[in-house]
Amino acid sequence: MTNVHDNILGLIGNTPLVRLNEVTKEIPATVYAKLESYNPGHSTKDRIAIHIIEAAEKKGLLKPGSTVVETTSGNTGFSIAMVCIIKGYNCILAVSDKTKQEKIAYLKALGATVYICPANVAADDPRSYYEVAKRVASETPNSIYINQYFNELNIDAHYQSTGPEIWAQTDGKITHLVACTGTGGTLSGSAKFLKEKNPNIKIIGVDASGSILKSYHETGEVHEEDIHPYQIEGMGKNLIPGALLFDQIDEFVRVNDEMAAYRTREIALKEAIMGGYTTGAVTQGLLQYANANPFQKDDIVVMIYPDHGSRYITKVYSDQWMADQGFINNGVHNYDKVYKT
Ligand code: PMP
Repeated sequence: MTNVHDNILGLIGNTPLVRLNEVTKEIPATVYAKLESYNPGHSTKDRIAIHIIEAAEKKGLLKPGSTVVETTSGNTGFSIAMVCIIKGYNCILAVSDKTKQEKIAYLKALGATVYICPANVAADDPRSYYEVAKRVASETPNSIYINQYFNELNIDAHYQSTGPEIWAQTDGKITHLVACTGTGGTLSGSAKFLKEKNPNIKIIGVDASGSILKSYHETGEVHEEDIHPYQIEGMGKNLIPGALLFDQIDEFVRVNDEMAAYRTREIALKEAIMGGYTTGAVTQGLLQYANANPFQKDDIVVMIYPDHGSRYITKVYSDQWMADQGFINNGVHNYDKVYKT
């Protein structure tokens, strides 16, 4: 019997690499996308959810009926909720009141208890989702707080799964790894594994315009003036995550909302890969990097595509949303104009 599993968690990991044939064809290298949407929770975060929860089980911190707490309305929340169903834990997610109703419905459909907390209060305010999560975790017996931004097991999950998969899938021939950084776990853990195998592999991080990660990497300082609101969800940060190993990263590229959005839609139209908004961001990051750093024919590039486009139908895949942002004018996606800028 092949490809038969005891439960849905057996499908986590071993995601495919797919070659891009159109969007990156200006780059002479072979370029692959690692499709993390093939995880059962449709994102890369399944890997950290199962890894962190199983590490807590090994330490005896969790038993059936225990509670797992996290502060996220994003992919990590879906993944934790999925793992909790199978393992018989309660899942409590503290999210901001800016979270869209459809996301809250999705999390509830997966059995999560969702606490909606005001977005416009300071992080140390007792009503903030950070403080609510911490309080719930400390007051609930037999509970754990995932704390993905500051949990080293986030890095370890990718060190143990994503990195080795990429090494094996490219037969050890990968020359460049490109990924977006939110918590930094995906890139840091994969990079650590790959650099141990071959220190010459170039590791390229993609940051959002409005985030401090790129300038912090370059200067070792937080530049408050870099911080401004932006639309891309799941990447970039206004604080320095403990799950980001800056010394594993050779270079950061910063991409803006508009180019990432165009690129996301271009990937759907030309490669038939429906990715999330950061799929466009990481691809845009590679193209910007390639403008300044020539590639060779033998180079093998792997980009990590973190999640699926179905979560972004009312955002980057909506013409109305694109027009509201000014990314489409008079109903026209002006790809040619954008390519030349
Ligand atoms: N893209 C999306 C859509 C995400 O949800 C995340 C996770 N926040 C990332 C990219 C970045 O992954 P990481 O947190 O491992 O850096």
